[in-house]
Amino acid sequence: MADRDGFIWLDGEMVPWREAKTHVLTHTLHYGLGCFEGVRAYSTEKGAAIFRLKEHTDRLFRSAHILNMTMPFSKDELNAAQCAAVRENNLDEAYLRPMVFLGSEGMGLRADNLKVHVMVAAWSWPSYMSPEAKELGIKVRTSSYTRHHVNITMCKAKANGNYINSMLALNEAIASGCEEALLLDNEGYVAEGSGENIFIMRDGVLHTPELTSCLEGITRQTILDFAKELNIPVKERRITRDEVYIADEAFFTGTAAEVLPIRELDGRVIGAGKRGPLTEKLQGMYFDAVKGKSEAHSQWLTPVNG
Ligand code: PMP
Repeated sequence: MADRDGFIWLDGEMVPWREAKTHVLTHTLHYGLGCFEGVRAYSTEKGAAIFRLKEHTDRLFRSAHILNMTMPFSKDELNAAQCAAVRENNLDEAYLRPMVFLGSEGMGLRADNLKVHVMVAAWSWPSYMSPEAKELGIKVRTSSYTRHHVNITMCKAKANGNYINSMLALNEAIASGCEEALLLDNEGYVAEGSGENIFIMRDGVLHTPELTSCLEGITRQTILDFAKELNIPVKERRITRDEVYIADEAFFTGTAAEVLPIRELDGRVIGAGKRGPLTEKLQGMYFDAVKGKSEAHSQWLTPVNG
């Protein structure tokens, strides 16, 4: 990743990709206190456009606030930096990674003289899952790892350190022949995937866990917006793992995973064992929206060329 041509926005300047470096004593590298975003730009008729940029930047600022990090840039500056990162790297479609991290001015948990740095990288990362997975769905296992408790770490912050939990769960799922993990909360209720929110459809009603320990997903919100437009009843509530087994349809949502059908959980086939009709409908609406093919949702796209 580090050895390539291009530019990375670092602390207000475009830096050649290979020179965007930080010291080994960078505080965030040691203790994980930092926050980031995962954002995507899609190819549209108006050129590359970033999907729900404002919402991602707002969440980045909320994460920094929760972690008590003072952002050294404004939201407008960060939005412009993200557009520039796509533009300067001549990308048509891109995954963007803004990150806020603490510098190397001091070490130890008490260090209080640390500079807050911000970076934005953008690169081409076509598909998080295989194209077949979007149609056939994926195999998931309930993780032996529990999603963070709301008072052990701050779940509303997309914090670097929180992702140890996600990686342990995902690696375990992959090692056991599945494609993704489903994490339960500390009380045993369904929380989310390693990097996705979850929805189930049962008897015409869409259900998704309420926002306790799961991340406030922007794709989750997009699906809730679509459900409202389609007059599909939605219940945000506690869900048990066996409710997923007996759902008519289930799917994950996330910026990277987009709208991803779940065909199996813990060896139990869900519904017809492939993408269900509502999942297909919502997935279609999502792809139309991100690719600028839906006039009604064009306000969610920010063309990087202005
Ligand atoms: N949960 C977790 C733990 C995640 O990392 C992500 C990805 N950011 C999501 C849910 C989905 O969030 P979004 O739709 O905003 O990408």
